[in-house]
Amino acid sequence: MKKTFAVCPCQNCGKQIEFDRSELGFAKTRTIECPHCQQETAIFDPKDTSESVIPAPPEPEEKPGTAFLTFACFVMFAIGLGTTITGFQGYYAAGEDPAWRTMYVVQYSSGFVLIALGLILSALVRLIRKE
Ligand SMILES: [Zn+2]
Repeated sequence: MKKTFAVCPCQNCGKQIEFDRSELGFAKTRTIECPHCQQETAIFDPKDTSESVIPAPPEPEEKPGTAFLTFACFVMFAIGLGTTITGFQGYYAAGEDPAWRTMYVVQYSSGFVLIALGLILSALVRLIRKE
């Protein structure tokens, strides 16, 4: 913190006391021994301390569209997972019927493809954000 000096009057002898404003900290007031009359007095910043308020750090810049892409990844994962699980369930429930088995193989395969696409897309989103 940079040193900025402020002056305030002693509460006992009324003489001006110069002090480092940064010593006040967040309390904005402090008890010190007056250099003039050696009695305890409270020092405070007579000025508005708004200039010493630390500004909030700026929000990290979000690339437009990445929020949507992240959402799309989640949707792909969810649909892919659901398709794969129901595909497997159907595959085992289908028994020996080759037509149904083929259909469910196609279903859980497309579920895997969706999960893979979701992974690729999420990797791309991370790359875009790093740029
Ligand atoms: Zn004094």
